[in-house]
Amino acid sequence: MASYNLLLLPGDGIGPEVMAEVSKLVTWFTKQGIARFETETDLVGGASYDATKQSITDAAMGRAMAADAVLFGAVGGPKWDAVAYDVRPEAGLLRLRKDLGLFANLRPAICYGALADASSLKRELVEGLDIVIVRELTGGVYFGEPKEIVTLENGEKRAVDTQVYTTHEIERIAAVAFELARKRRNKVTSSEKRNVMKSGVLWNQVVTAQHKRDYADVQLEHQLADALGMQLVRQPKQFDVIVTDNLFGDMLSDVAAMLTGSLGMLPSASLGAEDPATGKRKALYEPVHGSAPDIAGKALANPIAMIGSFAMTLRYSFGLTDAADMVEKAISSVLDQGLRTKDIASPGQNAVSTAEMGDAILKGVQTLAR
Ligand code: NAD
Repeated sequence: MASYNLLLLPGDGIGPEVMAEVSKLVTWFTKQGIARFETETDLVGGASYDATKQSITDAAMGRAMAADAVLFGAVGGPKWDAVAYDVRPEAGLLRLRKDLGLFANLRPAICYGALADASSLKRELVEGLDIVIVRELTGGVYFGEPKEIVTLENGEKRAVDTQVYTTHEIERIAAVAFELARKRRNKVTSSEKRNVMKSGVLWNQVVTAQHKRDYADVQLEHQLADALGMQLVRQPKQFDVIVTDNLFGDMLSDVAAMLTGSLGMLPSASLGAEDPATGKRKALYEPVHGSAPDIAGKALANPIAMIGSFAMTLRYSFGLTDAADMVEKAISSVLDQGLRTKDIASPGQNAVSTAEMGDAILKGVQTLAR
């Protein structure tokens, strides 16, 4: 039986509460012999700062580098608002992203039928929605140099950010999108602003040539980023995989997220380059939400984003498609049965606790496995 090494980094606030629900699934899958997971747990964020004065230790980083996948809860909270900038809780997550070389951020937006009325769009526009935004995460305008604010001779200030992409950076993110589409509905929408930006012209040329050369079997379309933003709220189900740069991806993935209802429902994956020797990628899976200090310790957290992140781990890092399908179907089925944590309950509707939701999803997986 295949064995996988998982590093669990629960972090702060509701991070440990939602990670506990994933641990139940990990234990059950191992016990059933579906896959053997070797897990280690370490500190990150404020929890790590309290214990070591660092937001992540070199030892924990070493474990992350050695793991087949990292599952990350959430970091941060008012308790650490005053700590030095370079050891603030978020610095632990940034170091993980940087040192693991996680250049591809995958954010699915799935709208479960049972929750379609919680979307700000009409039910018929979002019910059954299942799209993924692939965002370039380590390049573009957030990192390009020069990046500065200078004072001009007349005393005025001038701020500069630089949008910069190379062929290699565009090809590797587009390859992730094309490969992903092949496992889904086989359609990629590439998005940039080639009408006004040179980086958009290059992005478009590189993706077009790469498609012709390596991925002609996948349907490719191009949409300008502003038009895509409009289409995302007009007719979101037309998309399958959307690939775009760091800045546009940041905004478009938040728009897509809100099509689906609550923050507590949204998983994500960040992937690094494929190791040519092993075919494996470094990978970190985390819910989109933060540490939710307002509800931490109250058993109110929705564990679905974290459990959905585990389903992505099974699918993208381990190729355990059946197991991933089971987890996602179990989530859908508990929602169909009417189970709701407080964040997704309608006014007056009874809400279940974090552990009750986790247990129900585990039970759903057990039923599907029979
Ligand atoms: P947040 O995502 O933690 O919470 C926003 C709102 O959504 C809160 O009302 C919260 O109760 C609710 N919420 C979030 N997740 C939920 C869940 N699973 N179930 C039910 N309700 C949920 O964002 P914030 O309040 O802006 O930030 C809180 C802390 O988290 C800050 O310190 C911030 O820096 C940090 N943060 C960390 C990450 C991360 O670790 N990746 C991401 C975002 C924010």
